[in-house]
Amino acid sequence: MTAKTMEELVSLCKRRGFLFQSNDIYGGIKGLYDYGPMGVEFKNNLKQAWWKSMVYERDDTEGLDASILSSPVVLKHSGHEDTFTDPLVDCRACKSRWRADQLFENNKCPNCKSEDLTEPRPFNLMFKTAIGPVDDGSSFAYLRPETCQQIFTNFKNILDSTSRTVPFGIAQMGKAFRNEITPRNFIFRVREFEQMELEFFVKPGTDDEWHEYWINKRIEWWINQGIKKENLKKIEVEKNELAHYSKRTVDIHYVFPHGEEELEGVANRTDFDLGSHTKNQNDFKITSEVMKNSSSTTKLAIQDLEEKKWYIPYVIEPSAGVDRGVLALLNEAYREENIDKDNKRILLSLKPHLSPIKAAVIPLKKNNEELVNLSKEIKSNLQKLGLGRVVLENSGNIGKNYRRHDEIGTPICLTVDFETLEDKSVTVRDRDTMKQERVSIENLSEYYKKYFN
Ligand code: ATP
Repeated sequence: MTAKTMEELVSLCKRRGFLFQSNDIYGGIKGLYDYGPMGVEFKNNLKQAWWKSMVYERDDTEGLDASILSSPVVLKHSGHEDTFTDPLVDCRACKSRWRADQLFENNKCPNCKSEDLTEPRPFNLMFKTAIGPVDDGSSFAYLRPETCQQIFTNFKNILDSTSRTVPFGIAQMGKAFRNEITPRNFIFRVREFEQMELEFFVKPGTDDEWHEYWINKRIEWWINQGIKKENLKKIEVEKNELAHYSKRTVDIHYVFPHGEEELEGVANRTDFDLGSHTKNQNDFKITSEVMKNSSSTTKLAIQDLEEKKWYIPYVIEPSAGVDRGVLALLNEAYREENIDKDNKRILLSLKPHLSPIKAAVIPLKKNNEELVNLSKEIKSNLQKLGLGRVVLENSGNIGKNYRRHDEIGTPICLTVDFETLEDKSVTVRDRDTMKQERVSIENLSEYYKKYFN
């Protein structure tokens, strides 16, 4: 069973320290959230799982971590200055502002129902900021609206420093910013978010095949993170809705608590981006207007040694939202169970590699020196195995600790009791089955490692 409502998820996230409204004590800012102690671990685990599958487990990719502040020239040539817009409508009566495509009710203001609306006007979604000490508008940068442009501008640097050739990919994770007009649905649509993007460069002509490959690969990956196959949908983006750079895009939708929407997009961006950042475009078949005016001094192309000519590779881009991934996985993992006729429990049945806390070590009696010291030693030894965060819970209330760790998705709790001092073993409780077994301290590291493999 996944979560019943978004409210239940929001409540769990706040109660257990996954997510807080940003700037909360001053009333908050819409569309911004902060990841709390559990949230930051969970999000990092998700990103790590992506990095592992996109970089470490492949032999044809490299990583990058580029700057967030982006030159307007880059975003001019990428097409974002001109086309990264939403049509906006103002309500003259209540002064509210709406996205034209969200006026669901026959062109009436969703707030006051007035029909006195302006014509739609394009609104650029990029955040601008001044560079340098004088804010006179002459020197500014954008906060990147997607992470991938710096992958394209670093294409030659990476080729030259790694001697890669196509097919190969460059992976990057990090913040992106969009001044969304109506942020909504918790962390689904926010103004500051993270993306995990791979730009996979291929020879033109092989792009359709690679596109199919990445669509399937990405769906498989989400399933491996714990999303049920039936909750993921492959949606072909209609031709008239394709982004300016795309030949074909397939969105991977997930059935979120508020409805089915995009979790990840897999686009065939053709040679648009590398082409638009390339000088000497006459050498290539460049079609877009914006690409014809490039002032870049670099040729972002590959030499075909057999045919003895240069060409601009095509690029396949699987682009996933970290925050949407967090929301989807929390929703998938959420369970409510009756323990007996009077008691129920909430648990997050997360895959262990994603759990914010891998194990909790709980001395049966609070502040009992012998039990606490032994617990600390066990905690420290498990922590050293490097599989993620292990915590010591010294509150003495086993029931409360079990409930808390069920709700944050900790796969196992280890209780150190007075028997432990005699038989040198601990009670291990499994989150999902609630089954308990005794494991000797000597075998604990092996047991723990096997658990996570
Ligand atoms: P949407 O149609 O929902 O606005 P998009 O098609 O504009 O999304 P892309 O430009 O393809 O999104 O970005 C890639 C991924 O980045 C999306 O699949 C999504 O997971 C994430 N993403 C985009 N915009 C936001 C946002 N405002 N808040 C959170 N995640 C986002």
